[in-house]
Amino acid sequence: MRHVVVVGAGPAGLAAARAAADGGARVTLLDSADGLGGQYWRHMPAERPAEREHLLHHRWTTFGELRDALAAHPAVTVVPSAQVWSLERLEYGARLNVLVGEPDGVGREALVLEPDALVLATGAHDRTLPFPGWQLPGVYSAGAAQALAKGERVAVGRRVVVAGAGPFLLPVASSLLQTGASVLGVHEAAGLGALGRGWLSRPWELAGAAGKAGELAGYVRDLVRHRVPWRPGEAVIAAHGDGQVEAVTIARLDERWARVPGTERQVEADAVCVSHGFTPRLELAIAAGCALSASRFVVVDAAQATSVAGVWAAGEITGIGGADAALAEGAVAGTAAAGGDTGAGPALVAGRARTRARGFAARIEAAHGIRGGWVGWLRDDTAVCRCEETTYGRIREVAELTGSRETRSVKLTSRAGLGPCQARMCGRTLQELLGGPEPSLGTALAPAVDRRPLVVPVRLGDLAALPQRPQQSPNPQENPT
Ligand SMILES: Cc1cc2nc3c(=O)[nH]c(=O)nc-3n(C[C@H](O)[C@H](O)[C@H](O)COP(=O)(O)OP(=O)(O)OC[C@H]3O[C@@H](n4cnc5c(N)ncnc54)[C@H](O)[C@@H]3O)c2cc1C
Repeated sequence: MRHVVVVGAGPAGLAAARAAADGGARVTLLDSADGLGGQYWRHMPAERPAEREHLLHHRWTTFGELRDALAAHPAVTVVPSAQVWSLERLEYGARLNVLVGEPDGVGREALVLEPDALVLATGAHDRTLPFPGWQLPGVYSAGAAQALAKGERVAVGRRVVVAGAGPFLLPVASSLLQTGASVLGVHEAAGLGALGRGWLSRPWELAGAAGKAGELAGYVRDLVRHRVPWRPGEAVIAAHGDGQVEAVTIARLDERWARVPGTERQVEADAVCVSHGFTPRLELAIAAGCALSASRFVVVDAAQATSVAGVWAAGEITGIGGADAALAEGAVAGTAAAGGDTGAGPALVAGRARTRARGFAARIEAAHGIRGGWVGWLRDDTAVCRCEETTYGRIREVAELTGSRETRSVKLTSRAGLGPCQARMCGRTLQELLGGPEPSLGTALAPAVDRRPLVVPVRLGDLAALPQRPQQSPNPQENPT
């Protein structure tokens, strides 16, 4: 029986695991989180479950169906709290090194898997552009604020400003309101012109996104009920406070996201949540050798196959398209990984849903994609890398002194991106400052910053205790003798 390993149990991974199992494969589904659902269906901890969880999520029925189908399927093994910490390339496919147990815990169980087929569905994390004061306590990535609100029912502040770009700002504001926070405003960097061009062109194509319209209506209802203003063409360009956010400066932006002089105003707040889109989690795909596009997503064909034989990819690592796209891509990838025909049956239906959902993704990029004028919000003393406290002035200085626009050499000289988060927060920003699509310091496209052979830090003891022989299943009785 073909063994398919799926990494990531968000919408894409759940759909892939189910399709692969339905296609006759033995499936192992791994996720570093202690529950299923990924970012979209993030839950309260098992010891403090929400009483009416279905009210907190969209498409909860879909989640329930996937979870129950996987639990009932005899050929599926679900392994939560399973961190894939590295991937080694093999002639065909890959070997996965996995640690199972409490994150950072001692004595986690080590698994080494060499599946016949691998589906990567590792998702994305949210991206935040820097601005003066963004390292103050009280500034949160919108994703972190939402994780606290959804996963712990904790509000990050009493008076909160939400800012950035993209539809994601709306569920964040909604989650904050549900925890009792007062949301002072949602400030969307994209102006009405870009929003109109992105969302209103070819309106007939949106007919297939009726579910999204319902979701949007729910968020708008929340904002209206709580009298939260939504302001397009505005950004938080600075945060102020003595050891903690006390106020933010909000300014109007032009089409390129450059501040319009004279429009700045200060608003008192004790927290600000910022998000400017998403960055795919590419570590495993890069380790596997998968080809990436110029915009740095995993390149896949119509069957979600990557450029590497035996490896498929689905969800946000192939493009930011939302949960519907992730579900559809997962179903196609799982079918293909199990050796099935993606041109017939449920995979064909999923493929059509994928086409509609990808159109939605293109609109998000057209309307809310980052424009280069944001660099003008920076001052020389603005931290770009928060871990190493490397400032914008220092990065410019190093680039000028060394004459280099190479991310690697600027990283090594300035230490930007070398701290604990390993450039997850600042890597893309650094790349763009050194010569991205709208370069400010250089012209060449800077090389990748997403290569991290160790996906997460690993204890030496765990390395020493690694099993010598590959295991084909996390379930011991299924291992070959
Ligand atoms: C912080 C955040 C909040 C979001 N909130 C919303 C929202 O409120 N509403 C909305 O419509 N959309 C939201 N989105 C977007 C939405 O979550 C995505 O469209 C959807 O979840 C994508 O599904 P996915 O399966 O591709 O990835 P995800 O749902 O992100 O799932 C990826 C999974 O892979 C796992 N994983 C990654 N690397 C490893 C590894 N090395 N080892 C083991 N497991 C691994 C992760 O733990 C995660 O569970 C959010 C996205 C983010 C990043």
